[in-house]
Amino acid sequence: MALLDIENNLKIIKQRISDAATKAGRSPHEVQLIAVTKTVEPEIIERAIDCGVTDIGENKVQEIIRKYEIIGEKVKYHMIGHLQKNKVKYIIDKVDMIHSLDSYDLAKEIDKRAKKIQKVMKCLLQINISGEESKYGVNPLEAQSLLRQISELKNIQIVGLMTMAPYTDNPEEVRKYFKDLKNLSLEIDQLSLKNIDMGHLSMGMSNDFEVAIGEGANLVRIGSSIFGERNY
Ligand SMILES: *Cc1c(COP(=O)(O)O)cnc(C)c1O
Repeated sequence: MALLDIENNLKIIKQRISDAATKAGRSPHEVQLIAVTKTVEPEIIERAIDCGVTDIGENKVQEIIRKYEIIGEKVKYHMIGHLQKNKVKYIIDKVDMIHSLDSYDLAKEIDKRAKKIQKVMKCLLQINISGEESKYGVNPLEAQSLLRQISELKNIQIVGLMTMAPYTDNPEEVRKYFKDLKNLSLEIDQLSLKNIDMGHLSMGMSNDFEVAIGEGANLVRIGSSIFGERNY
């Protein structure tokens, strides 16, 4: 994709983010765009960075390693895909935030690896808010007890929740899931657990980010609307 297209797409997306925030009575500055760069080659990502992208999201460990080697620390990396325990060690020093924490075992491994490099890893608890079987994430009913356990781990800082809504052509259909995630984060916040902060809600993708912002998203993960449709 040409530089001009990316620049233009980014401009449009930023305007839409800003409009959605304003419409919800929120400041546009509250919403951080994470450009999802899975399947996008490093040279294209570099162009996006030149156009003002500060944060990118990847769903594969291997891709983070490869892109980090080329692009380095010009951009912040977000791990947004399912993370296997045995791969934590490869990305612990590279990523700014892990959006896909979904078990105590994984939390223990992240904590252990972060401790080794004297880092406190920012993580979001991924919630399977719709209950779809195909989706990763913690059952909302189990979130509180899991967070109580995780709260004892000193090298993990939970900074909020993440979810993926079911795919739909009509984003209004998934508004309820974004509302549910926001409400869950408010309930958890009431518990005042140590090392657990509910400041971030990572929800909304190309097809539903405006609705997500309307319901309180402040991290939106957008890929195809910036870089074009993927081939899968
Ligand atoms: C691919 C992906 C996105 C971006 O999806 P688009 O529809 O391309 O905007 C967001 N979040 C996760 C977890 C993804 O895997």
